[in-house]
Amino acid sequence: MVWRTRNEGLFLRIGAFLAENRLDPDPEHYRLAYAILHDPSGEPAREAVRLTKDGVRLGREELEALVAKAISVADATMPHWQDGQADSMSDHQVQDLVAATQAQVDGVADIVRTMRRDNNGFGRDLAKSAAEIDSSPPSAFDRLSNITGGMIARVQEAERRLARATDETEQLRLKLSEAHAIARRDPLTGLPNRLALSEAFAAREDAVYCLALCDVDRFKRINDQHGHGVGDRVLSMIGHSLTEHCAGHLVTRYGGEEFAVLLKGLNVAEAARLLDRARASIAARRLRNRETDEPIGAVTFSVGVTTIRADETTEAATERADKLLYTAKAQGRDRVCAR
Ligand code: GH3
Ligand code: MG
Ligand code: MG
Repeated sequence: MVWRTRNEGLFLRIGAFLAENRLDPDPEHYRLAYAILHDPSGEPAREAVRLTKDGVRLGREELEALVAKAISVADATMPHWQDGQADSMSDHQVQDLVAATQAQVDGVADIVRTMRRDNNGFGRDLAKSAAEIDSSPPSAFDRLSNITGGMIARVQEAERRLARATDETEQLRLKLSEAHAIARRDPLTGLPNRLALSEAFAAREDAVYCLALCDVDRFKRINDQHGHGVGDRVLSMIGHSLTEHCAGHLVTRYGGEEFAVLLKGLNVAEAARLLDRARASIAARRLRNRETDEPIGAVTFSVGVTTIRADETTEAATERADKLLYTAKAQGRDRVCAR
C-alpha cells in the first residue's frame, strides 16, 4: 500500500512521540506530533526542542500552547487527516490503515516486551555486582561503587518507563482489536456488515457455498406509516430472526433494508428451502407498534439465492443474486427465487 511505504516512518515517530510524552492519541495531539515531526525546522518543533532539551517532559500548559500553535501549521500541511479527506477514504482504505496500525502496534509491543525482559536481567546482574563490590575492601572501590549505583538508578528508571510503555501498548492493542471488530459490525442490528461478508467471501474454503440477498418488501411504507424508529426495530427483528433460522451460516446486514447470507455446505435448493422457512416464519408474525399499539401487520421479504462459483468475485455472485431478487420482486414479492 502506498500510504504505508510513504508514511510509515513518520507514523512510527508520531506514535513514539505520543507515548514518550504520555499523550492520548486524540486528534489535537496527533496534530501537534505531526507539526513537530513533519517539519523539524518549524516553530512548534523548535519550541518543543527548547522546552525538552534537558530531558524534561512537556508539561500540560506547555503542551496546550504548543498544540494551539501546531494546529494552524498542521491544518495547512497535513494531507491525510483533514476532515473532508477522512470522510472520502473508502472502507477498504480505513481497514488497511487499521490493519497496518495493528501490525505496527503488535511489533512495538513485542519489542517492548523483549527489551523489558532483557533490561530486568541486566538490572538484577548489576545490583548483584554492586553488592559484591560493596562488601570488598575499602576506598579503591568507592568510586566504582558510586558509578554502579548511578547506573542501577538509571536502569531502574528505564524499567519503570518500559513497564509504562508496555501497559500503554497493551491498551492500544486492545483498542485496535475493538476497532477491528466495530468496523465489521452493523450498529443498528449488531449483525456482521458488508465488510465482514466480503472478507468471509474471500476466505471461502473448499466447499459448496451459496449467496442469498434478502430485501424487505415495501419497507418504505413502514417508515412512512409508523416512523423511522419503528422501521429500525423491524429491521433488527428481521436480522435476528434470519440469524436464528440460518444458524451456522453468515447473516449480514448488507445495507438499508437488505440482508445477505453466505451459506456454506448447502446446495442451492437446500439454501432456498432454508431461506423460505425463515421468510414464512417472519411473514406469519403480526407486528404491532409497541408505542401506539397500532397494527403494523405482516412484514415480508423477497430473496434471490445463487450458487457461488469457485473462482468468482463477490461482485459477480452478488449481481446474480440481485437479478434473482429482482425477479422475486417482479413475481409479486414475499418469495425466494433460486438458481
Ligand atoms: P421494495 O419492495 O421494492 O423493496 O420496496 P421498498 O419500500 O422496501 O424499497 P425502497 O428502496 O423504495 O425503500 C427502502 C426504504 O428503506 C427507504 C429507506 O428510507 C429505508 N431504510 C433504509 N435503511 C433504513 C434504516 O436503517 N432504518 C429505517 N428505518 N429505514 C431504512
Ligand atoms: Mg432495497
Ligand atoms: Mg425493499
